[in-house]
Amino acid sequence: MATIQWFPGHMAKAIRQLEENLHVVDIVFELVDARIPEASRNPEIERLIKDKPHLMILTKSDLADPVQTKNWIAHFKKMGLPAISVDSKANITTKTVTKIAQSILGDKLAAEQQKGLKERPIRAITVGIPNVGKSTLLNRLVNKRVAQVGDTPGVTKGQQWLRSSSKLSLLDTPGILWPKFEDEVTGQKLALTGAIKDKRFASDDVALYALHFFRENYPEALPNRYKLSDADLALSDVDLLLAITKKIGMKDDYDRASERLILDTRKAKLGRYTLDRTDGEQND
Ligand code: GDP
Repeated sequence: MATIQWFPGHMAKAIRQLEENLHVVDIVFELVDARIPEASRNPEIERLIKDKPHLMILTKSDLADPVQTKNWIAHFKKMGLPAISVDSKANITTKTVTKIAQSILGDKLAAEQQKGLKERPIRAITVGIPNVGKSTLLNRLVNKRVAQVGDTPGVTKGQQWLRSSSKLSLLDTPGILWPKFEDEVTGQKLALTGAIKDKRFASDDVALYALHFFRENYPEALPNRYKLSDADLALSDVDLLLAITKKIGMKDDYDRASERLILDTRKAKLGRYTLDRTDGEQND
């Protein structure tokens, strides 16, 4: 899905659409990138969802640091938000998601059945910033089994329910919200993971942020990938970027080298990593 330029009109429209859709769903699946569970959360999301049942889904877990992912799940649970992590390309099953949604909605479903209402599929919507993996997860969950158009009143024109299992239906249009742009570091995290367009950020700034981050948090990553010596590792971040530029055969074109470093990071060629850090239960 293409990255969207967010203008006030876009934001107002996205909010309106989500608010309309919230009336017809039982549960919201809020997607965040497991590498940046904080920076990829929309700042308005809690206010918009209010007390609608809510499952946090940490996507791209195959690229994130597994210890950090575990900590983040504990952190969200502590905030009262059930959370799971997924690799939509490999390990997520409809059965798992259906079961979790059922357990979150347990009381509501039981109350309906006690009132004599017929059993029906749970209705869900996926919500998140561009590129977080909404379409990939949706495709994975629905296997292209499309329910009839307009079979549920209240669905905005042009939208339909996609059948995930006999017990779970998903709205075909995900809620797309903008990411945070509160500070420069958040922007760099979004750029480094590919959540926002590269053009908005100078690639050398993003590369320098990455260098600094890996040196502090995953000290083996850079020497392993770029065959760096102890002397290289004693350099400042800027000089290290220049040294890497030479090592990968780009002479002094550090712009191109920065882009390579960013691409390597996105593809986890420096290993799995999580930019937003939490110590889980101990530290919040
Ligand atoms: P959307 O804009 O939120 O709908 O995001 P997409 O579903 O289009 O995904 C954006 C990019 O992330 C695509 O290149 C996907 O292949 C990739 N992607 C989505 N989910 C995963 C995942 O769990 N793991 C990995 N490695 N890549 C993913």
